[in-house]
Amino acid sequence: MWKMDIINIYDNSDKLYYIGGVVRDKLLGIESFDVDITYVGDAVEYCAKFGKVVQENPDFGTIRVNVDGREVDFASTRAEVYEKKGHLPVVTKIGCSLKEDVLRRDFTVNALAMSVKTGEIVDYVGGQEDLKNKVLRVLHDKSFIDDPTRIIRGLKFRVRFGFDLEPKTRKLQEDYLAHINYDMSYKRVKKELIETFNLNSQYAFELFIKEEIYKLISPEKFEIPNVNVQELINKYPVEYPWLVYIGLLPNLARLDLTKEEKRIIEDFRSVGKLKTDFKIYKAFDGLTTESILLYAVSKDMKVALKYLDTLRNTKISITGDDLKSLGIEPSPKYQEIFDYVLKKKLKNPQITYEDEIQLVKNLIK
Ligand code: ATP
Repeated sequence: MWKMDIINIYDNSDKLYYIGGVVRDKLLGIESFDVDITYVGDAVEYCAKFGKVVQENPDFGTIRVNVDGREVDFASTRAEVYEKKGHLPVVTKIGCSLKEDVLRRDFTVNALAMSVKTGEIVDYVGGQEDLKNKVLRVLHDKSFIDDPTRIIRGLKFRVRFGFDLEPKTRKLQEDYLAHINYDMSYKRVKKELIETFNLNSQYAFELFIKEEIYKLISPEKFEIPNVNVQELINKYPVEYPWLVYIGLLPNLARLDLTKEEKRIIEDFRSVGKLKTDFKIYKAFDGLTTESILLYAVSKDMKVALKYLDTLRNTKISITGDDLKSLGIEPSPKYQEIFDYVLKKKLKNPQITYEDEIQLVKNLIK
């Protein structure tokens, strides 16, 4: 019996196929993030025996099973139609042929299947050839109209694998971007943007702008900033690299940003010109590095780097208790005093705790 070498299960069925990214990655000789297996028939019924069932969705014919500590998605073969372009497709048939299942996919290199029983590759669309030539090719002319998120997925795979768009696919992308239907599922667009730009690639960003893929989010013209965002993020790590790229776009209204993401954007947009070190400090103190980098790229690099490299390390030592000990009653005056000491300290970072106390004493005299 053939033993799967990607996951550790034994099965003699000739209806089980590795499918999609896992086959592509296997042929590229790289490890896959996740393993997808399709069963020609009802996967929920057949595949539960492979391990502990983590989750199942009989309406979609999918089941997630923990196989030897690894979560594997088993899906029934299914056919879909895009009743509403740009939105999730409707499943028309569960348990269709392998060929029908493959034809609903995004790119030929993601439409390869590999028999679990024999290891044989099933290639209905020329995916192996495209993989060899390192090109991404859609399966039909309406592919981007059905699902424009594929344009961003294409960008992601181009950057991840160093692939190029096959010429006709490039033309279809251009055509679509010249006639965008903005009624699309932005939840999925956002997911793909996050995956693409968390790769932290300047190259992805340049393609995104040069090819006007950004217009999927909003049509306002956008130019490549004269800054290498990738290097900036490498030097000043952030939790959400994608937001430092996408946050630069002039209009993000279509992306359903979380409260935290909105705050990061609003914070950098609301900071204007900053003239003194004290003003820089006060403007950036408490802001995320994402907001400060967005300010750096779009407004004033020198000011932002001055804060990140030096000013932010300045901290005053005195506390409210010190002021109380000096006989000052708690009041909003405390903040004024702290700011006064901070101003002095920004000018002269060598100031000690004792110096700070002395400054306060002189001030209240
Ligand atoms: P990754 O390594 O990023 O997981 P993947 O190819 O496995 O790459 P998934 O998003 O996990 O990507 O999708 C699994 C498979 O489902 C793809 O290989 C492709 O065949 C199909 N697929 C995913 N998204 C789409 C889409 N928008 N349109 C058509 N097919 C898709």
